[in-house]
Amino acid sequence: MAEFDYDLVIIGAGVGGHGAALHAVANGLKTAIIEAADMGGTCVNRGCIPSKALLAASGRVRELRAKEHLKLLGIEIGDINFDRGAISSHAGNLVNKQRTDLTNSLKKLGVEIIHGRGKVAGKQAVQVGDRTITARDVILCTGSLPFVPPGIELDGKTVFTSDEGVRLDWLPSWIAIIGSGYIGLEFSDIYTALGSEVTMIEALDHLMPGFDPDIAKLAERILIKPRDIETKVGVLAKKVTPGSPVTIELSDGEILEVDACLVATGRIPNTKDLGLESVGITPDRRGFIEVDDRMATSVPHLWSIGDATGKMMLAHAAAAQGVVAVENICGRDATVDYLSIPAAAFTHPEISFVGLTEPQAQAKADAEGFQIATTRSYFKGNAKAIAEAETDGLAKLIYRQDTGELLGAHIIGIHASDLIHEASAAISQRASVHTLARQVHAHPTLSEVLDDAYKRAAHV
Ligand SMILES: Cc1cc2nc3c(=O)[nH]c(=O)nc-3n(C[C@H](O)[C@H](O)[C@H](O)COP(=O)(O)OP(=O)(O)OC[C@H]3O[C@@H](n4cnc5c(N)ncnc54)[C@H](O)[C@@H]3O)c2cc1C
Repeated sequence: MAEFDYDLVIIGAGVGGHGAALHAVANGLKTAIIEAADMGGTCVNRGCIPSKALLAASGRVRELRAKEHLKLLGIEIGDINFDRGAISSHAGNLVNKQRTDLTNSLKKLGVEIIHGRGKVAGKQAVQVGDRTITARDVILCTGSLPFVPPGIELDGKTVFTSDEGVRLDWLPSWIAIIGSGYIGLEFSDIYTALGSEVTMIEALDHLMPGFDPDIAKLAERILIKPRDIETKVGVLAKKVTPGSPVTIELSDGEILEVDACLVATGRIPNTKDLGLESVGITPDRRGFIEVDDRMATSVPHLWSIGDATGKMMLAHAAAAQGVVAVENICGRDATVDYLSIPAAAFTHPEISFVGLTEPQAQAKADAEGFQIATTRSYFKGNAKAIAEAETDGLAKLIYRQDTGELLGAHIIGIHASDLIHEASAAISQRASVHTLARQVHAHPTLSEVLDDAYKRAAHV
């Protein structure tokens, strides 16, 4: 008789749980995954996948309607129309396909899928309904939910979060977007491309607070100022009431009346009622499960990955954490190198980054006693970008002055989300700009924007 029902039980079948399950099976672990709602979690059903489908379609509309821009390439076209319902179906179909593919990939590998709400039920045990399952190791991967500040009332139709926004059920003429993080920014890209007017409300004193300050400044010039977007910075949306119109009371006393309001004010961990108290775990004050870089909790054989840990709330980070957790479960020491995990906003043009922002790098330099340097190179000097007539953008590098070690790379410009990976690989190797400046990039490619930046940094 086996000591446990499974080698590994994973609670939550989002991309984190999926990544962990695939790696567990590859390592011969008898694995089960428990899912309370939709297979694929946030990314597949309400996040990355549908939002990127909407961005792809709306981005194409924006591109085709930019007549002056097309003229630069010698192209003239007539009026461009779109069908909102068909764009919404494109996103829905993609979600269904990804969800089916993800589910089948687990089934094919022999991962047992258990539908229901899982709960930790003491050491090395999980409860689903009235069934108790034992496992040598358990990974908690329960993800996150939209955060809705107090005073904001949702009805899911006129006042909603990204959960409903990705369905694109209707196109409001005027929409307020609360929050200027990457989710708010991506939705402003979608709505303005499809003809909506946007008012963006940001509580902090500048837009896009998560980005490197230089990138945020340029992003404002490219993605906000020339578009039908009004910004209100340093004010709080104190009270939002759904209806027709939606009313928004701002902290400076102004009252807005708009057709719709998207609340994009961050995400909170989905860690309530998980039975954590049964093993003596108390989440941090925001509800995140605390883990070390091996993804271990304070309880042996209990691990946590993904958004529930709040470390880096991105799909590929969750999957990478899953692999690291399984490596440790298999007895091989592994840790997550967050510095080399890239991030992107899929606006038009895109923004991407990896490693430290300049203020973060400066703080590290001050603490450790070294100097940093920065360099920039511009898309307007890149032959491929000029050929595409897409010359808005820059790449900024932050590196150590003494060793040349690359500490951060930040790009805004066409295909930035694809360009970032060579900087990410470089940071994972702790490479210096002097080495990187000698790598040969194909000509003419957008990757020469980074090539140019490395060479400027290395003075070659
Ligand atoms: C609009 C939007 C756009 C995004 N775009 C991107 C992007 O472009 N790129 C990117 O990298 N990231 C993006 N993200 C973030 C990304 O979706 C998340 O980082 C990722 O989904 C986290 O994966 P996870 O496995 O930790 O959690 P989730 O995907 O949230 O999955 C957790 C799963 O656990 C299940 N669950 C919870 N509790 C229980 C329980 N007790 N028992 C059983 N099951 C349970 C949930 O039902 C859910 O299915 C986006 C997010 C949003 C909202």
